[in-house]
Amino acid sequence: MGRLRRSRTHHAKRDVHRASRTRVRTRDLDQIQSIDLDPKNRAALEAQQLDFDKPGLAQHYCVECAKYFEADAALRAHWRSKVHKRRCKALKEPAYTIEESERAAGLGREGKRPSTTTAIQEDIPS
Ligand SMILES: [Zn+2]
Repeated sequence: MGRLRRSRTHHAKRDVHRASRTRVRTRDLDQIQSIDLDPKNRAALEAQQLDFDKPGLAQHYCVECAKYFEADAALRAHWRSKVHKRRCKALKEPAYTIEESERAAGLGREGKRPSTTTAIQEDIPS
């Protein structure tokens, strides 16, 4: 399954090795969710100063994907793309936290457990 396997495993990432390099590391989903999507920060990111090191002089930036574009047309095409829509959907879900990872490993204190045990203890005498 040459072509199909390749197209279905890398999820619209053209170069998976490139994505793992520190040099090209972009912002994580939880960073975007908690910092960049704040209306104040979002406005600042969308109206950046001219930066000659960034693609398109840092004038065309997608906040959700933390990505610069060369031209306005490219940014608009990106907003209509599957990659961007998938990213927006991922950002709507709550961010993965340390508490959640501890709960998954059975380490965290579950919020509902104390109340259920007290409810059971109250039931036994009566
Ligand atoms: Zn985007």
